[in-house]
Amino acid sequence: MQGLDIRLFPCLNDNYGVLIHDEASGVTASIDAPEEEAVEKALQEAGWKLTHILVTHHHADHTQGIPGLKAKYGCKVVGPRAEADKVPGIDETLGEGDTFQFGRFEARIFDTPGHTLGHISWWFPDPGVLFAGDTLFALGCGRVFEGTMDQMWASLEKLGRLPRETLVFCGHEYTQANAKFAVMIEPDNIHLQARVGEIEEKRARGEPTVPSTIGAELDSNPFLRADRDDVKMAVGMPNADAAAVFAKIRGRKDRF
Ligand SMILES: [Zn+2]
Repeated sequence: MQGLDIRLFPCLNDNYGVLIHDEASGVTASIDAPEEEAVEKALQEAGWKLTHILVTHHHADHTQGIPGLKAKYGCKVVGPRAEADKVPGIDETLGEGDTFQFGRFEARIFDTPGHTLGHISWWFPDPGVLFAGDTLFALGCGRVFEGTMDQMWASLEKLGRLPRETLVFCGHEYTQANAKFAVMIEPDNIHLQARVGEIEEKRARGEPTVPSTIGAELDSNPFLRADRDDVKMAVGMPNADAAAVFAKIRGRKDRF
């Protein structure tokens, strides 16, 4: 089967927009809609017509492009059930365990609360792609604005159980700043050291560090590693449970 076409493009200050396209079915989706003009430009460059907007959460830098794009393309807006009243123009709502058929590709929905209470993540098992919004970042995770630390840890743990080769697309390019923090937590992690070198080279060439993979995050992202003994030791909490260790690391990053 011909693959799912994916195009990543920067927009606003540090957001990423993503278009996905199934040539055989003629459908194109924008993952969130950070900025109408940037999504339009990406559509024009690709020669695709927008049919869907697949939303992860209600924040303005993920939804403010929806009204203009919907008015122009009449596209279908699909997003989190628990935030339906906060997502403009929403047509269909989804939550944990639901599936959504996008052309020939099926998405499975995870509730991933923490950053916002109703945040969802979109997983396409074939070809193995995750759109994690502002829950899981390359070497980081979203700030815990609306939910609890326990909820955010549970959300990250859920994403960490996906196949290691899963490509992870997130909402922002925060990777270099995240890397500085990660190295402070786990200076001796050889996977992290190797990755930091790759990240610096990519950014020096002006290339995105997104997507990463679940495997790379499990090996080097301190937030996803809060259940590992070496991370517990590193923050001085050898006997604490993972959610408490996660809360400690997230709190440190908020002040970093
Ligand atoms: Zn957000």
